Amino acid sequence: MDFMDKRVLVVGGSRGIGAAIVALFADSGARVSFTYSGSREAAQSLATKTGATAVQTDAADRDAMMATVREAGPLDIMVFNAGVLVAGDPLTLDPDAVDHLIDVNVRAPYHSSVEAARSMKEGGRIIVIGSVNGDRMPFPGLAAYALSKSALQGMARGLARDLGPRGITINIVQPGPTDTDMNPADGELAEQMHSVMAIKRHGTAQDVAHLTAYLAGPHARGITGAMHTIDGGFGA
Ligand code: NDP
Repeated sequence: MDFMDKRVLVVGGSRGIGAAIVALFADSGARVSFTYSGSREAAQSLATKTGATAVQTDAADRDAMMATVREAGPLDIMVFNAGVLVAGDPLTLDPDAVDHLIDVNVRAPYHSSVEAARSMKEGGRIIVIGSVNGDRMPFPGLAAYALSKSALQGMARGLARDLGPRGITINIVQPGPTDTDMNPADGELAEQMHSVMAIKRHGTAQDVAHLTAYLAGPHARGITGAMHTIDGGFGA
């Protein structure tokens, strides 16, 4: 795909799915910057390998996040990928951990999308990485995570209406189990996840990156306010 000279920001790009998205856009000629919070070494190594620019910004810090989006703009494409997982019995989970998850997974993509849209060019693209857990949550202990990913669906539907008149699209990519640090293919829960999938293996970050790139490309100009699931049939 050709993204020659397009200005792209990937929020949360140092590892996993985000890093695959950074690499794909950089390989396709885009001018890419990406954020990270803690993984400085991974971020620096990705920047060296791809030529992308790494910016340390904690997505949970609203003012810093919005300033980073502003400084990276005017953007052609923003991908909001950062996300955290908090799992456990909701009766004993630390409420601060749950609020931090909501800060990163919900408040940050909302404020970043709005801030990006302020200066985005006509025909710009916003893609947020949600999860099939926004549609289906077959396991206990993940209510807060599912809540955060469902919230993105309403956000995309609403912002699609606000931004449509300027030709800006907003879409949610919803991966199922994908082999990353967050959810390793050989992790403890892998077998349980595979049991509810039609294709019983983890997906790859690269496949999620290619779906994201399609939604950022010219043939997706009529796709907005929609969820795009890539989950090996987890939600089927
Ligand atoms: P990883 O944990 O492997 O990577 C998460 C990325 O998000 C890292 O680059 C991390 O950067 C960044 N990040 C996390 N918190 C912050 C923060 N506060 N500020 C800035 N960046 C942050 O996760 P995945 O690659 O697996 O997940 C990426 C997205 O895909 C998430 O939204 C996740 O919910 C979603 N997803 C993943 C699935 C899976 O099975 N892997 C399935 C469905 C959805 P740093 O290390 O620098 O903090």
